[in-house]
Amino acid sequence: MHEIRIAEDLRDIVLEVATGENLHSVSKVNICFGELIQIVPDIFEFAFRESSRNSIASSARISIEIIPVKFRCRKCSNEFVLIANNYACKECGSSETDIINGKEMYVKSIEGE
Ligand SMILES: [Zn+2]
Repeated sequence: MHEIRIAEDLRDIVLEVATGENLHSVSKVNICFGELIQIVPDIFEFAFRESSRNSIASSARISIEIIPVKFRCRKCSNEFVLIANNYACKECGSSETDIINGKEMYVKSIEGE
């Protein structure tokens, strides 16, 4: 249930941005999660709603976009997405790769008035 901690962190960001933009209420929050975060959208939305209770974001709709895991090969710099748990480079076969997408989480945009 790491959704609760993440929801609280993102709520703080949402409220900070909304306050900075002089919003009176937040209607929609667009959030991106890397696939490796392994968020359960329903649980996250519930956790966000609970943690933002009595705030200007309490009735915001949550839209979640999942960002696929992406790797970059250290040998040939090829970038590729994970298919069937095969972590090796599709170009040169090297298994020395870095994860460049998939662990991020951020608030993409906030809508409100
Ligand atoms: Zn390679």
